[in-house]
Amino acid sequence: MTTASPSVRTRFAPSPTGFIHLGNIRSALYPWAFARANQGVFVLRIEDTDLERSSQAAVDVIIEGMKWLGLDHDEGPFYQMQRMERYKEVLAQLEAAGHVYPCYMSVAELDALRERQMAAKEKPRYDGTWRPAPGKTLPPVPEGVQPVLRFKNPQEGSVVWEDKVKGRIEISNDELDDLVIARPDGTPTYNFCVVVDDIDMAITHVIRGDDHVNNTPRQINIFRALGQEPPVYAHLPTVLNEQGEKMSKRNGAKPVTQYRDEGYLPDAMVNYLARLGWSHGDDEIFSREQFLGWFNLDHLGRSAAQFDEAKLRWVNAQHLKALDDATLAGLVLPFAAKLGLSGLDDGRLPAICGLFKDRCDTLVALADWVKVFYAEEVSPQADELAKHVTDAVRPALKALDARLQVCAWDKASISAAIKETLTEFGLKMPHLAMPVRVLTAGTAHTPSVDAVLELLGREKISLRLRNA
Ligand code: GLU
Repeated sequence: MTTASPSVRTRFAPSPTGFIHLGNIRSALYPWAFARANQGVFVLRIEDTDLERSSQAAVDVIIEGMKWLGLDHDEGPFYQMQRMERYKEVLAQLEAAGHVYPCYMSVAELDALRERQMAAKEKPRYDGTWRPAPGKTLPPVPEGVQPVLRFKNPQEGSVVWEDKVKGRIEISNDELDDLVIARPDGTPTYNFCVVVDDIDMAITHVIRGDDHVNNTPRQINIFRALGQEPPVYAHLPTVLNEQGEKMSKRNGAKPVTQYRDEGYLPDAMVNYLARLGWSHGDDEIFSREQFLGWFNLDHLGRSAAQFDEAKLRWVNAQHLKALDDATLAGLVLPFAAKLGLSGLDDGRLPAICGLFKDRCDTLVALADWVKVFYAEEVSPQADELAKHVTDAVRPALKALDARLQVCAWDKASISAAIKETLTEFGLKMPHLAMPVRVLTAGTAHTPSVDAVLELLGREKISLRLRNA
């Protein structure tokens, strides 16, 4: 039995030149989702040919970030620097087929050309001086100069593609000059490597940022020169930051992994990023499975999407409260452990999560609540203490403490102990509940006091009430 080759093969091809941020990783989410939604293959390719700006640390953040978000790849990571021999091999093929020619124009000559063109209000472009043509005499080859290799871009016609986001795009070939595809030392340039990779990796759909849209007609011409049909293209609009600028590390974008450390859930992040440039009706909150069930390239947005941290927090809060308590307990555990808390395996965590999950928008916020239950002490604000823990209520607090030492330990009995104390001292619920909250939980803003006390346990309550 033979298995049919998968019809969809996508890739994410980041350059590890900075720490990958949310704007970048969205360019991984869509090709990943498209591959998964179509039982296809998702390839990870690291475009590390910019030796000065690439770093292993940046590669690590890409891989860690994708792993955290569950954007698993089926093939790779392939590193372009490890494929140099292959590029040179294909370059030789292209040369043998007459699609490439050496160009000896010096940098000074190129600069002068550019200046002349600018002065004449023309678009700066290589003028084809060294492009061979029947009957054309080329300038004499200068001595001791290593040429670059240029690609013979077609001079007639135009390049057309149906972009899945932008619609039909047509670029006339006379707008494209002959691209340098190998440097004087023989190393291939970016646009050429991308085409060789996309061919070798049998990529069917290129889904990438629209900062590459100008490269596409050049890449398509190289595909054709190599006798290959180009893939389908979808160029995603930019992601803007909250100030409306293109999201970038330079203007404060955080590395993806920082959101993990700040307590965001991977499924919430996938949900949020998915909506940043794609929609499924009015659906705002959805699971990973729903997203994969719905995703296609037909509903990608055409205009730039703007990052909104408040919305991300809201999406996270929705996912957080939808989790069952035991799962949430497992997720909050490392965050609580990071706060130096111990005894976290005593079985109380799921119930604590259940009690607080609808008040928290991140795991970090939830861990702060966990701390109330495991830390030795809490530190109420002085003004809250002054406001709620008054001389009038101190005797009642003492009496409640005594009752709680002997009553049965369940919510109903705790509630009864509170009520008896209220009756004894002629107080109303808030008069006693507020100081109890402030003293035992460190804040007046908690869920129902009997539920909090039940989870705190007799000893901690007693210890903390005695600070009254
Ligand atoms: N390496 C390019 C980048 O990080 C992506 C190239 C591509 O997707 O074709 O912007």
